[in-house]
Amino acid sequence: MHLSKQKTTVIIGTGVVNLITAYFLAKEGHQLVLIDKAPSPLSPYNWKEVGCTFGGENVRMYTYTEADNYNEKGSQLYSKMDEAFERVIDKNGWLVREKEMLNEWEQSWIRDFHAVRPNQANQFAEDIYTININSGHLWYKWMKECPELFEDVDYVPGILRIYSEKEDFDAARQLHSRLNSMTRAMSMEEVLDEYPVFRHAHSINMLGGCMTTRGFTLKVHDFSKKLIRYLMGQGAEFRWNTHFSSIERNESGKVTGLVINDKLESYDNCVLSLGAYAGTTLLNTETHNQLHGVLGVWLTIPNLHPELNHSMKIHKIGHVGEDSNVTLIHENGQAVLVLGSGYGYTGNAQNNEVNAKELEGIFDSVIHTAQTYFPESYEAAGDDIHVARRYCVRGWTPTGLGVFEAIPTVDDGQLIITGGNNTGGFTQAPYIADAVLSTIKGEQHLMQHLFHPDRMKATSSFVKEG
Ligand SMILES: Cc1cc2nc3c(=O)[nH]c(=O)nc-3n(C[C@H](O)[C@H](O)[C@H](O)COP(=O)(O)OP(=O)(O)OC[C@H]3O[C@@H](n4cnc5c(N)ncnc54)[C@H](O)[C@@H]3O)c2cc1C
Repeated sequence: MHLSKQKTTVIIGTGVVNLITAYFLAKEGHQLVLIDKAPSPLSPYNWKEVGCTFGGENVRMYTYTEADNYNEKGSQLYSKMDEAFERVIDKNGWLVREKEMLNEWEQSWIRDFHAVRPNQANQFAEDIYTININSGHLWYKWMKECPELFEDVDYVPGILRIYSEKEDFDAARQLHSRLNSMTRAMSMEEVLDEYPVFRHAHSINMLGGCMTTRGFTLKVHDFSKKLIRYLMGQGAEFRWNTHFSSIERNESGKVTGLVINDKLESYDNCVLSLGAYAGTTLLNTETHNQLHGVLGVWLTIPNLHPELNHSMKIHKIGHVGEDSNVTLIHENGQAVLVLGSGYGYTGNAQNNEVNAKELEGIFDSVIHTAQTYFPESYEAAGDDIHVARRYCVRGWTPTGLGVFEAIPTVDDGQLIITGGNNTGGFTQAPYIADAVLSTIKGEQHLMQHLFHPDRMKATSSFVKEG
């Protein structure tokens, strides 16, 4: 009788992206070992010690347009990207350290960012929508198949989008109609009638238009912890406080093992999603130096407006807090609004240290959003506003696309690197999982092409030839 050997797959990084991949690998019968340099999120931990998923606030949003491509040169929102890397946040740039402090890798990454041409950038933005929409199909299928995973995580369907400028609303309305994402465009009378909380914003000319679109929000910590418990129940081994430092490859490029806590370990398959913390660990891969960090901040204020029935996206003119996600959740039995926003380039640092002064600049912008759109809630937060603040760092790439790199191992398995999904890691996670499963089975998948780490060069030659 033929006895098929159970494949052991190592998962490095236990943020939401890899936890979702692990869930689907476990379903396919993979024996899993999950490794993270951070402590277990199931025990009390300091949020500054963990990655973006658990370090950020307990909320994430799925929409068709999540994962902004900051490189979209024609876009009004990111029109000043030529200057973003010239100055620190305090002086209207995106740097969290002075320009003179940037190392060679960071300078090279910034050169690559500027090298993306407008037609490429527009194509990349379209590719991101495609990935998000495909991922949405998988999210909704998953909800149907396994509704208990989505219970008790404050799942809220539908997104209310608010724009401070009418021109931005008109452009967004066109885009969301084209993507079949818009569910309702609202007249100003309807908005003020249904959402009296926005009368203040209207009175100071900060309400240019509103619509509702497809999407949802949930509590990402609660959801991810459910996944960890599920995986433990399936016999997965978790190794916390454990460092991966490099990939070993033989002369033909195949992976022979991973260095973990200074020892070489080998597995049938390896899946790495390191967030913004890859640093020098991926030196001998094409992904090396593509995954840099961008900082975002969170502010939690009481929700005094029970009539709010959708989580929100607010797009306002400004500098580093133009786009905010506002999520409705309950925390310790209290209804709260969680605002997440901000842009600060942290480079390729493994620890993503952040200058306190620049951090304040991003918080100021989010506070401005809270004061503009939820003035009473902001007032009611009082002194608690200082403890209700967090920040975390997400990975992003010069192209704005995520990364999906597959390298064969000596045992006919695959080492797969994913990441750089910017503000869309949660959104894209089921589709990333789908691509990992296909790749391990030796099948083709769209993500292998769209998020190939060599995509910029591939697109350049395509554009030239075309
Ligand atoms: C302010 C803000 C708002 C956001 N809002 C949204 C949203 O609404 N919707 C959305 O889709 N996305 C959103 N994102 C992005 C999303 O949160 C991230 O894309 C996602 O959390 C990334 O998950 P990840 O698993 O790739 O990385 P992470 O959560 O960062 O996990 C990476 C893990 O790898 C571990 N690790 C790294 N290096 C090593 C090593 N050498 N050895 C061992 N372990 C290692 C880290 O400790 C970490 O636990 C937001 C991001 C920010 C900052």
